Amino acid sequence: MVILEADKIVKIYGETSGESVTKALSGISLSVKQGEFVAIMGPSGSGKTTLLNILSGIDKPTSGVMTIAGHAINKMKRDELALFRRKQIGFVFQEFNLLDSLTVKENIILPMVLEKKSAAEMEEKVQTLAGLFEIEPILQKYPYNISGGQQQRTAVSRALVNNPGIIFADEPTGNLDSKSSTAIMECFEKIVQELKTTVLLVTHDVFAASYCQKVIFIKDGHIHSYIVKKGSRKEF
Ligand code: ADP
Ligand code: ADP
Repeated sequence: MVILEADKIVKIYGETSGESVTKALSGISLSVKQGEFVAIMGPSGSGKTTLLNILSGIDKPTSGVMTIAGHAINKMKRDELALFRRKQIGFVFQEFNLLDSLTVKENIILPMVLEKKSAAEMEEKVQTLAGLFEIEPILQKYPYNISGGQQQRTAVSRALVNNPGIIFADEPTGNLDSKSSTAIMECFEKIVQELKTTVLLVTHDVFAASYCQKVIFIKDGHIHSYIVKKGSRKEF
């Protein structure tokens, strides 16, 4: 089943202001199936962030159709899109974006609080995710008292609490050392294999991309090429 489809996505910046016009994306089409693990790579300025923002509904394309789970998100009104994003999409950032005034547990359940889920449901979900990502010992700690790797695993848990069909991640290993990067990529691998959730990430990190089944290379706003991995990743 196709969960995400981008059809001839064009993004032009500066058209209305008329100052300097940049064609960041020049007609990108791609589709991602449920349960796929995909990386987008490409040089700086090639349009990766722009593409991720459009695929995830953070930004709108200048033209083209963007469909997630059968819904054309480029046509949705702001409120409708906000609600859709909360239910269907999880997002993980390079900078973690946790709230320092909340504990790890409170950060994780925040999206469930917004969805008015019951206390029992929230508790069960936190325990399941904390077990899966090995963060039980830090649930009562604050983000500034845990490592970068633990912060990112907290952010991944938060992205998953409302059972989204797809997780987007912008340079998720960008602020992590090698060991924490491996741990976070193993978390994404678990998400794909055990929860059958789709994961799509933008990365400069070739080791991060080595975990993905498909790598799409973007250059100057278009798809330059892509590779599909046959079989499983072999470790030495
Ligand atoms: P990447 O993530 O691959 O580095 P970006 O998507 O950030 O690429 O940028 C693609 C191009 O669009 C670049 O030329 C960048 O300067 C331009 N760009 C990105 N965001 C904006 C914006 N908000 N306004 C104007 N130009 C932008
Ligand atoms: P990265 O490539 O690491 O994602 P960038 O430095 O390209 O980061 O962009 C950071 C942010 O600034 C993005 O949200 C992008 O949309 C915005 N941006 C990039 N280039 C421009 C630009 N020329 N004008 C305005 N905003 C921009």
